[in-house]
Amino acid sequence: MTDIVKGAAVQDLLDRASGLSEDDSTPRLKAITRDLLEAIMAIVEKHDITESEFWEATAFLQGGAEEFGLIVPGVGLEHFLDLHMDAKDAENGYEGGTPRTIEGPLYVEGAPLAENGVNLSTDPDDTETLTMSGVLRGPDGEPVKDAILHVWHANSKGFYSHFDPTGEQSPFNNRRRIQLGDDGRYAFESKMPRGYSCPPGGATEKLMQLLGRHGDRPAHVHFFVEAPGYRALTTQINFGDDPLARSDFAFGTRDGLLPVPNRDGDTAHVEFDFELQKAKSSDDEKFSARPRLSA
Ligand code: FE
Repeated sequence: MTDIVKGAAVQDLLDRASGLSEDDSTPRLKAITRDLLEAIMAIVEKHDITESEFWEATAFLQGGAEEFGLIVPGVGLEHFLDLHMDAKDAENGYEGGTPRTIEGPLYVEGAPLAENGVNLSTDPDDTETLTMSGVLRGPDGEPVKDAILHVWHANSKGFYSHFDPTGEQSPFNNRRRIQLGDDGRYAFESKMPRGYSCPPGGATEKLMQLLGRHGDRPAHVHFFVEAPGYRALTTQINFGDDPLARSDFAFGTRDGLLPVPNRDGDTAHVEFDFELQKAKSSDDEKFSARPRLSA
């Protein structure tokens, strides 16, 4: 089959479609748009994608738009972003520290700022109590001062407050920002989360079924860590004894982020220390500008 993407007609089409011949106010956007369109065209050519297949895929993406925040980790793109940032870090001399891993789509801005030792679970939940504690340290083992630890996790049904289809949870249930002190120590209590699956009947589940994959996550707890002078960290732990700990459909699993809870009766304790990198600029102290729900 004749390859036409690299031919003059398609290359000219790409220049015009991405606005290259227009004003130069958005050169980065134009260049990225051109490469994206060319990559799609090359895939059409490589796989001889039919008109029917192309429009089916378009309809899928339109219908699945609400779930893009879940499709992106589900197909490994969010984990790829972590790998890409890791590679850039290695080039730029950032090393060590607790590994980053995917944020996922369910953080909510504006969680109450609480004192250390807080109970994150405002709603009753008939399951194990989870306690977690540890220390935040810098690269020389020094305690990180004045950090804020953001924590969010699901309830025992696998649902997050603000995203709970049953409507049962109070705002910010299982979500807090914890203000830490000079010693870098943190502790909190909550109710043990359960792993969850992508929404039944949704676009992510449909895609996973077509790919022959499951759409389940192990039980996990999400964290943002911020502290003056240190690099902001986005990470999460998967409970190491969850059967899906290493088979997370969203690829959030990383070595170093798989603590096994110490289970005793109806209490599970996790001891987990965070190590932060030093910030090299004020931008390093900030989280990504990803659009997030605010409540
Ligand atoms: Fe999650």
